[in-house]
Formats: sequence, C-alpha cells, structure tokens
Amino acid sequence: MRRAEGAVLGAAVGDALGAPFEFGVGGALSAWTGNGGAEMAGGGGWEPGEATDDTQMAVLVGESLLERGGLEPADVFERFRAWAAAEPKDIGLQTEDVLTGGLPWDRAAAAHFAVNSRAAGNGALMRAATSAVYFAPAGRPATMAAARSLSALTHGDPAAWEGTAIFHELVRVALSGADPLAALPSALAEVDPAHRDRYATVLAASWHPDLATEFNGAVWPCLGSAVWAVRTTGSYPDAVRAAVDLGGDTDTVAAVTGGLAGAVYGLDAIPAAWRTAVHVPLPSTGRTLRQAELTELARDLARAGAAAAGGSREATGSAPSDPYRVHGLGGRAG
Ligand SMILES: [Mg+2]
Repeated sequence: MRRAEGAVLGAAVGDALGAPFEFGVGGALSAWTGNGGAEMAGGGGWEPGEATDDTQMAVLVGESLLERGGLEPADVFERFRAWAAAEPKDIGLQTEDVLTGGLPWDRAAAAHFAVNSRAAGNGALMRAATSAVYFAPAGRPATMAAARSLSALTHGDPAAWEGTAIFHELVRVALSGADPLAALPSALAEVDPAHRDRYATVLAASWHPDLATEFNGAVWPCLGSAVWAVRTTGSYPDAVRAAVDLGGDTDTVAAVTGGLAGAVYGLDAIPAAWRTAVHVPLPSTGRTLRQAELTELARDLARAGAAAAGGSREATGSAPSDPYRVHGLGGRAG
C-alpha cells in the first residue's frame, strides 16, 4: 500500500492537478477540453504537474523535521521566510504578511491575528501532509499538538490550528490502515471545545460543500470539502477530481484531499502519469523535487518519526533531542 508515500505524493499531485483551476468555477476540471482533455495539463501559469506553494511549504516542513531531528518552530519559520523572500510563484496573502513582516517566529502570526479578525485561512492545513506522516507514530495527542504548533507559525487564529490538528489525526488513522472517517468522533473530541461545533458541522456525513458559509480558502470548508471528497468517492483519482471540480481554492482543497486519500489508498493508487508529471520547484534552494525525491522524503519522515516516537517512550524527559519539544508555543487556544 505504501501509505506514507501516498500521503506525501498524494498531496503534491492534488495540488498540481488543481493549480490551473484556482479561483475558477465548479466543474472546470470535468469540463476541461484543452489539450484533448488530458488532466494534469498545466495552465494559469503552471507547468503540467507543477506543484504550488502548498507542496513547497510541506517539503520545507518535512526537511526541517528530518534535519533538526524533530520540531523546531524557529527553524521551520526561518525556512519559510527564506522561501518567501525568494519570491515563489504563489503565496497566501496571510502567510506572506506574517513571513515578510519582520517579526520573530514566536510573535509574527499572533501580531497579524491581533489586527486581522479573519485569519482562519487554509494556509496551514494545506502544507500538513509531511508533518502528519512524521508525527503519526507518536499517537493522537502528540500529532495534534505538533499540528497546532506548526500552524501557529503563520496563522494566529486557533481555528486554523484545530483544522490542521484534525487533518493530522485523520492521516494518522489512515496510515494505520483504519478508516479515518470512523475516527472523526474521536478526533473531534480532542478539538478545542471553542472550535468543536463548527468542525462537527463541516465534517458531518450530511454536509456538502454547497452548504459552506465561507469561501473554501477558509480552513473549515476546506477541510470539510476534503473529507467530503474522500467520503463520497471510492478511489484516489476520483477523490482529487471531485475536490478540483468544487472550484475556488482548487489546488489547496485538492492537496488536502490528496494527502488524506493518498494515506487511505496508498501510493500505487495514484495514477502513474500524475506521479511522473508532478514536480516541486523550491525557489529558496534552486532544487526541484520529483517523484523519487518525494517518495524518499516520505519514507524518511515515516522512519524518523517512528524512531523518534519509540525513543520518546523511553526518554527520561530531559533529553535535549526530544523531538516533541515545543519552544514556547501553547498547543491550545486560551
Ligand atoms: Mg497553492
């Protein structure tokens, strides 16, 4: 099945599939007739298979986790800043504000949130596939806490943290071979009570993306749409196609969908032509990651995450290399 590779590749492929249709109308992928109707055909400034900021940031997170031996928020933030300074083709408005405002890692997002009431974009959720793979072996509370800390680097609104935490937990369950949809109640039980009802609404089996009360660039309908796409389809390609066909923030909704669907169905369920086409230029480094590098990254994250989780169970609590230490960021709202 190769689920960890499926999660990382699946998110990248969804991102690339959706990129040409960003901010378009619903049904645009199904209606696409250019290039003979071939999917993953590029457009809108994107090469065929070119992944966007969603996957670029996910790679930066994954490489930080591997190179630092765990979660060091300051290091992740610095990689984000260097990337933003290298003028990527696309960057979320809120993410750009936070990363280019000159404030340190532990103040930038909170300062932005203090003056912007609408800060619950999907920009932290979109980049979570790599960290979800790394922290899965640590178990539910640890992976959800790590998701909150990583989200808080660019998003000061705890609503964004909680959505990313739910995604981490659903991927953890899927990687174990269990049904992530069956785990929704237990995931919601771990959500900050101030945010639980709103997520329960968009994650309910009766919810449909047409019922969204915000544009799907917001974290709630983005996560709800991804879960809807996985719930109402039976394969990886159909899940990400359904996500792109929703319109709006197509690359990100499909990246989130693809991360979860890839964990459910595994790497081999992703069409080979899509895997061959996908590539992730990293403007801050000059490198471009392709299928081989992305699968290696996924395998390394799974292996290192398992080792760290095993080590932490035996740790005395004082080891400076504890991978789950969090430098000054609270895991919860309040
Ligand atoms: Mg994007």
